[in-house]
This record gives sequence, C-alpha cells and structure tokens, in this order.
Amino acid sequence: MSSTPQDDRPAASMPDTRGADIIGPRNPAREAQDPFTLRPPSTDKGTIPNLKWSFADSHMRLEEGGWARQTTVRELPIAKEMAAVNMRLRTNVAREMHWHKEAEWSYVIKGKARLTAVDQEGRTFIADVAEGDLWFFPGGIPHSIQGLQSDLDGVEFLLVFDDGAFSEDSTFLITDWLAHTPRDILAKNFRVAEAELAHLPSKERYIFPAAAPASFAEDTMAGAGPVPQSFVHRLMAQEANRMPGGSVRIADERVFPASTMSAALVELEPGGLRELHWHPTGDEWQYYIEGEGRMTVFGAESKARTFDYRAGDVGYVPYAMGHYIENTGQEPLRFLEVFRSSRYADVSLNQWMKLTPPELVRSHLNIGQSVLDGLSKDKHPVLPPGPQPSGGV
Ligand code: MN
Ligand code: MN
Repeated sequence: MSSTPQDDRPAASMPDTRGADIIGPRNPAREAQDPFTLRPPSTDKGTIPNLKWSFADSHMRLEEGGWARQTTVRELPIAKEMAAVNMRLRTNVAREMHWHKEAEWSYVIKGKARLTAVDQEGRTFIADVAEGDLWFFPGGIPHSIQGLQSDLDGVEFLLVFDDGAFSEDSTFLITDWLAHTPRDILAKNFRVAEAELAHLPSKERYIFPAAAPASFAEDTMAGAGPVPQSFVHRLMAQEANRMPGGSVRIADERVFPASTMSAALVELEPGGLRELHWHPTGDEWQYYIEGEGRMTVFGAESKARTFDYRAGDVGYVPYAMGHYIENTGQEPLRFLEVFRSSRYADVSLNQWMKLTPPELVRSHLNIGQSVLDGLSKDKHPVLPPGPQPSGGV
C-alpha cells in the first residue's frame, strides 16, 4: 500500500483506535484487493452506492471459439447510463452480423479484428483494428466483428453501450430473424425457391467459427460508397497530452466525429494523481486496463466512499460527483473514462480555485496564499506524486 510522509489517512500509516478485529468468517483474497473497503479512511461517510464491479464476477457466456461477459445495471445497479461487454474472438471467429438499439463504443484491448457495417444509405464500412483502436456504431446500424490472425489468436475488446439496461443477449441477430420469418416470405424476399433456403440455421449463432476473411481489398465492397465518417479512431496514433505524473488522450467529437460518445485514456505513474474534478455532462463509466488505483467519490451531504480498483475492474461515477484517482501500485495505472456525451468535459477543482478571487477562496478554506500560488490557471488533469516545494512553484 502506498504511503507518503504527508499522508495522514489512518488506514495507510498510523494505528487507529476505530473499529476492532474481525473474528468471524473472512475472505482474505478479497480483502487484500479492497484494503480501503476493509478499513475506510476517516473522511468516508454515509451511503454512496456501490461504484465497483469486476468482470471476474460477471457470468461468462462461452461459445465455440469465443466468450462474452457483461457489466450492466443487473451487476452494478447505479450504472444506469452505460453498460459494457468484454468479448474474446479467436482467429476467424465471428460475432454474428447484428444490430441493436443502443450505440456501441469500443476499445480494442488486445489482438486484431475486422469490422464491417452498412448504413441506412447503403454506404459501406470496413476496417481492421488492433490494440488501442476505438470504434463506434450508432444505434440501429448493422455490423459484424471477426477475429483476425495475430500472435494472440484473434482479438479481445471492450464494448460500452449508452444504456445501462443493455443486454448482449438481446441484440438483433441475422440468423435469429430469418429463423423466425415464414420460409415462403423469405423465398419471396430473396427471390429464390424455398429449397435454396433449406439449410438456414434454426437458431442464432451469436459467436461462431466462420470462414477466413478474404483480403482487405477483396472484402471492401462496392456500393453507394463509404460511410461519410469513419466508425474507427486510432487512439494511439493521437498525440498524448503528457505532463508530470502521466498522460491523457481524449477522444470525442473533435477527433472522432462519428461517435456520439466520448472517452479519455489516462495513464498515471506510480503515486500519480488524476486531480480532483467532476464532469458537468453526465455519468462516467471506467474500465481499468492495467495497474492498481483508488478513487474516492464525493456525493454532497457529507457523503464520500473510497474504492480500490485493479486491471479488469469497472468503476462508475454518478453525474456531477467529485472524485480523484490515485495510482496506488508499483506499475503504471491505465484506465478509460467513458461518457455518453459527444464532447468530453470536466471541471478542475484547482482551476476553479485559481480563477476565483483569492481573498474569497482563502476566507472559505483558511489557507495561506501559498496554496493558491501553487495552483495553475491551466488545467493539469494529471499530477505527479509528492507535494509541491514549500511556497508553491
Ligand atoms: Mn454490436
Ligand atoms: Mn472523472
């Protein structure tokens, strides 16, 4: 557990007379992952709802050559604005041609995949994606995903949907629709004899081993031309906003105009801090990609609760609630912040204080001018470990 000299949080550094030992049943493995749940800082108070879920606790839907697991309002009830699916497809394995009511925002975790889509104007989309790429399909737009040959045998990715009640098990699948349409209607629709449709699947395929895809050029379909805005954004090709303590990459309508959702990929060095802030546009859905971190969420009315997260966990921050994230591990911490809004927005506590008349701020907080002198009018979303030199910089 990290502990710095100025750290006065009781769980980390000093004997604490609050509480008592646990003499009943224990789950030590679980407790070790949640030290600040077992022994919350004294600043925590009240009834903030649960803001953590681990994909390790999600049901695994196992299919031939792949799997899917989800985090929705059924797993994390506070997460009403967004839901997510973590999916793996081995080489050539397809996530069946489908669509859904919700918009789909995605981050490629590892490996490679081929995407296809067709929009309402008959315009086509195809892209091969790899680690760090984003994609976005608007609600109702049909698409497919297929694992490609790679040293990781296909692909694993994260899907975030703009409705917490989303279910991966209730998407519109091409096989399912055809299995539930009278055969004579299908024959009329496709203008063939019914016998030619004798081998249609009788139920959905969902995830299944498909034929190997053709070359990218061969799979690029002629039609009414390509979709006007790419459904893919190469996030790692985007210059990161680097600063002491880590970096941030923001992907929103300014760089990824096809997407009605936005996101930030944040990297924190050990001890680094995603500064105290909140979001004026809506809830924040988080996915921890690498490392270990800690977040305290402030919910007004003196309510605050601290959670520990690690790779594979989901975090959630309800609209407007103040929060920070600290890298509490020995390795870099990387996580995604995802929003339903098309434009990324946050409000910085430091910037707010710096841009408010100083006498007013000082009389609120009983702080010296040196505290304000150490703040910047520019936003610093990530801060390095350790205090400023005395008197600020
Ligand atoms: Mn989909
Ligand atoms: Mn945030």
